[in-house]
Amino acid sequence: MKCTRCQEEILPQDSYDYYGQTLCEDCYIAALQPPKPCDPTAVASATATRKQLGQTGTAGLTPLQQKIYAYIKEKGKVTKEEVASFLNLPPWELERQFAVLRHCELVKATKEGQQIFLTLW
Ligand SMILES: [Zn+2]
Repeated sequence: MKCTRCQEEILPQDSYDYYGQTLCEDCYIAALQPPKPCDPTAVASATATRKQLGQTGTAGLTPLQQKIYAYIKEKGKVTKEEVASFLNLPPWELERQFAVLRHCELVKATKEGQQIFLTLW
């Protein structure tokens, strides 16, 4: 049998069922652990990894993450829509980048009324 995601040959005993898809162990774990914006374990490990690597502040971020960080720093407080349109990002991409920035304790979301704002940590 084959893994639905990566097309790798897998033995039936090594296959995992994920919502009707047959996945190998790696893909199954990846499917179970999408980046979660508010996962304390992920925060701890992301922060620990960065500390190990001697990274603080924006060191170790991708150019895109640095742009998002710089934009929020400049504005102080922005909505996700503003960031998305400023950087021309689809919302899902911004969510992904935001999850990383949140994990690294650089950017956080604050709710004011009905609006969600992104501010520096
Ligand atoms: Zn796979």
